[in-house]
Amino acid sequence: MRQLRRLALSPIAAALLLSACAQSPVTPVVVAAAVPSVRNAQLLNDVRILSADDMQGRDTGAPGGERARDYIVGRLEALGVAPPPMGRLQPWEMQGRTRAGPKTYNGVNVIGLIPGTRVTDRYIVVTAHYDHVGVNAEGQVFNGADDNASGVATMLALAADLKRQAPEHSVLIVALDGEEHGLLGAKHFVEAPPVPLTSIAMNLNFDMTARAETDGKLWVTGTYQHPNFRPILEAIPANGAVALAFGKDTPQDTGEDNWVEASDHGAFYRAQVPFLYLGVNYHPDYHRPSDDFDRITPTVFISATELSLASFRALDVALDR
Ligand SMILES: [Zn+2]
Repeated sequence: MRQLRRLALSPIAAALLLSACAQSPVTPVVVAAAVPSVRNAQLLNDVRILSADDMQGRDTGAPGGERARDYIVGRLEALGVAPPPMGRLQPWEMQGRTRAGPKTYNGVNVIGLIPGTRVTDRYIVVTAHYDHVGVNAEGQVFNGADDNASGVATMLALAADLKRQAPEHSVLIVALDGEEHGLLGAKHFVEAPPVPLTSIAMNLNFDMTARAETDGKLWVTGTYQHPNFRPILEAIPANGAVALAFGKDTPQDTGEDNWVEASDHGAFYRAQVPFLYLGVNYHPDYHRPSDDFDRITPTVFISATELSLASFRALDVALDR
């Protein structure tokens, strides 16, 4: 851990407190209530269901992927997250890659809209891919609990939190398909965005938010490209055993240690939309059939999710001032 937690506040409350102090040091600050434990149960439930064997590894275009999509639609509906004017589902057909060569994929992105209170015509696009790599030739299911049922669950927890306390920016909640075959859903999203690209303040991408115990870090990639984001997030204290760390984005970070285009935020980066990526480091179950729900340590996942929510809130408050 790089930072000690000195305040008896949730990270969200602490972030709000810090940002509010910066603006008006004498005004009493109303801090957000403690995160209710029911949300943590829902968070874990979402990962468990999305990474269950009956989802069959959630491959793009496969019945398991469709089941996962139906589940996410149901969760957004239950949370009262409305579809954008273009509709809940964004189907696409894209050329993707497989080990055997190029292949045409038909995928579907799922979109929700949460109106903002201060910057209503600017959007923070929150993304998490719900697809994974399916079943291999030996019949092994790649459940992808960390990659990326976790990020979807974190995104749904954020959506729930934003329904409790509205964001300042308008927010698109986007569960992307086809990431594993070459960021396909994200590429389609930036080619046919539901709002003008110029109205997107930033993309915040969650991919692998559960297994932070490897190094105790939830990595933030993209502050090399967007240094203005860094002081906003550096104010967020560590949460339990997990702290934000910055990197995997410089010219010195090469190969698999450069994450600038490692997940869907890469499509936003290429489209020159500001981005940040939040995700954990590699672990032994990464892209293996053993990436299962029971390998997730709930307290670590909850900490990383709370840091993700705190990151969103801090950015939402700071941007477009
Ligand atoms: Zn992933």
